[in-house]
Amino acid sequence: MSGAAKSEWSAKNPYYTNITENYILNGEGSKKETRHVVFALGDSGLDYKVGDALGVIPENPPHIVDELIEAQGWDKDSIVTTHNGERTLYEALKKDFEVHMASKKFVQSLAQKVVASGIKINVKMVSRSRGDAIWNASENEPLPPELKPSAPSDDPADKVEHLNTDEKAMEDYLWTRDYVDIMREFDAKYSPEEFFELAGRVKPRLYSIASSHDAHPGLVELTVGIVRFSYHGRNRGGLCTQFMADEIGNSDQKVGVFMSPTKSFVLPEDKDIDIIMVGPGTGIAPFRAFMEQRVFDGGNGRNWLFFGDQSSKTEFYYKD
Ligand SMILES: Cc1cc2nc3c(=O)[nH]c(=O)nc-3n(C[C@H](O)[C@H](O)[C@H](O)COP(=O)(O)OP(=O)(O)OC[C@H]3O[C@@H](n4cnc5c(N)ncnc54)[C@H](O)[C@@H]3O)c2cc1C
Repeated sequence: MSGAAKSEWSAKNPYYTNITENYILNGEGSKKETRHVVFALGDSGLDYKVGDALGVIPENPPHIVDELIEAQGWDKDSIVTTHNGERTLYEALKKDFEVHMASKKFVQSLAQKVVASGIKINVKMVSRSRGDAIWNASENEPLPPELKPSAPSDDPADKVEHLNTDEKAMEDYLWTRDYVDIMREFDAKYSPEEFFELAGRVKPRLYSIASSHDAHPGLVELTVGIVRFSYHGRNRGGLCTQFMADEIGNSDQKVGVFMSPTKSFVLPEDKDIDIIMVGPGTGIAPFRAFMEQRVFDGGNGRNWLFFGDQSSKTEFYYKD
């Protein structure tokens, strides 16, 4: 084991497996949620060495998929075609596109939707003044920056234009909103096919492996910091971490994984060499694996692991 031979499983062809253990490492009262998650490698033939990472294929939270379908009045059982072939609309939204956060492309597309669904009224500004600055339309000069409105009006088309012309405003807007928020705000309707063109495809996430395969044959273990936040009265968070915390491990649901081997992040071949490791927070993951491997290999080299986090009472992961 631990030779990490090239395998048939990859990001495009992941191995579907179960989680055998999934528990919180933080002590009571912690503000963080860090989990130890163990995957079975079953009959995959997958192997790894310490320092490698595991690729995990995430899925969207069911409540967000349901809200999206409801916001658009779509039929969840209708058959659609995506880059992954024919499937129900529900499955496509759950597995093929990242619907937990909105894309910039989607907000840009509102420029067509909002104007087309409302009455477009042209209002011409004839003059504007602020402090000593005065501008008259008759001068054929563009409005100077200091006289440009700093906030958009309540008109939806105006707001979309503001977002599409001010990068910072777009960034701030997207930080706290997903597709459901935006569709509700602008009452904008899309066909599933239009939506697929605008949403990003699901991408795998990588996690440093926190175990030695020699010490845990047939298993691969991770240390995962779960990303959760709440805006506009709705709970949301990171795609893959929420998936691992809330969906898999609590049911028979399978999850797609593959190995992402490292060339440079490796233990010294000489087992008698001393090593110093620094891994705060979930950064401890690969060094837990290094420690396990060093114990398994039984050399004379000494090991120092420096670890830190918010509180020693609640975040002292793997204290034992
Ligand atoms: C080689 C490698 C090894 C890694 N090892 C580990 C590991 O061992 N353990 C580990 O936990 N992670 C690890 N990561 C990180 C991991 O891959 C993911 O990036 C991480 O888990 C977040 O994924 P997610 O899908 O849950 O979040 P995403 O869906 O990708 O979302 C995260 C996004 O949420 C946004 N966000 C965060 N907080 C807020 C907020 N309050 N409001 C609005 N938006 C917010 C951020 O902008 C960020 O873009 C590793 C990454 C790499 C590349």
